[in-house]
Amino acid sequence: MSDRSRVLVLLACGVAIGVGAVGGFLRLRHRLHWGPIETYELRDDILVHGNADLKEVALTFDDGPTDTTRDLLDVLKADQARATFFVVGKQVAKYPGLVRRMMDEGHEVGNHSFHHPRLDDLAQNQIRDEITACDRAVFQATGAHMSLFRPPGMRYDEVVLRATQDLGYVTVHWNVAAKDFTDQAPSVIRDRVLDHVQPGSVILLHGHPDTVRALPAILAGLRERGYRLVTVSQMLSRLPRPVYVKSNAYGATATVPTAAPATILAKKTSAKKGPRLARKSATVEPRSDVTPVHGLDVPTWN
Ligand SMILES: [Zn+2]
Repeated sequence: MSDRSRVLVLLACGVAIGVGAVGGFLRLRHRLHWGPIETYELRDDILVHGNADLKEVALTFDDGPTDTTRDLLDVLKADQARATFFVVGKQVAKYPGLVRRMMDEGHEVGNHSFHHPRLDDLAQNQIRDEITACDRAVFQATGAHMSLFRPPGMRYDEVVLRATQDLGYVTVHWNVAAKDFTDQAPSVIRDRVLDHVQPGSVILLHGHPDTVRALPAILAGLRERGYRLVTVSQMLSRLPRPVYVKSNAYGATATVPTAAPATILAKKTSAKKGPRLARKSATVEPRSDVTPVHGLDVPTWN
């Protein structure tokens, strides 16, 4: 190899390493929230964390419903606490009644894919299939669609983000995790949450039996520290630049103003970006067994 070729090869390697390093840093920055990442990334429709000026947090439970979800809901109900559940479609098909109960008791339900795969390993059509299959399972169980999405393992790339945006979802990050997907002492789960919680935290929990045992102490600890629990759509609506999504708490009908045209119902707006219509239909049949509850922090549709 001539000296010139050698220099060119070295130069190409240097450029490739540089591009890889920058890409890796940006992905890491996405995940670890280094640097000046805002509460909400408009370009990608990602909630990173809530309004840091408000003493409120969102509890989120991933991977359900499971056998323990009933106990989890009992604890939340006894405390009159609201949470957001990111459900897995195949589990929804197994426990449709528990998903109905989540919504009936004021919790929000978000999409966590159908089979819980690593979406960034899949082709675009497979990613869409995972998301829409989960939505179909929830719609069959409840008559409600979802506006919030959390990729399994928080694994996402540009392709995943474009698919979720196209389907009208806001991607929801977390910034406090209890690592409760395996056996943990309830006191460890409690401390991992309470030691790291800050105004605007999005707290990640799972449905492990130890989590159920830890939950009363977590709720009490949050209250002692002056935190208010909100659902993710409530948190979005109180960001410095508010973002409005259709909540499915209390079933499909509660946030549907009777006079508004159906296309308005799935509207998502922000101060910076103009109104955008979500592609999924909001024209679901009202459920006769759900009493609409008012007083939720939902947007006013003008
Ligand atoms: Zn998960």
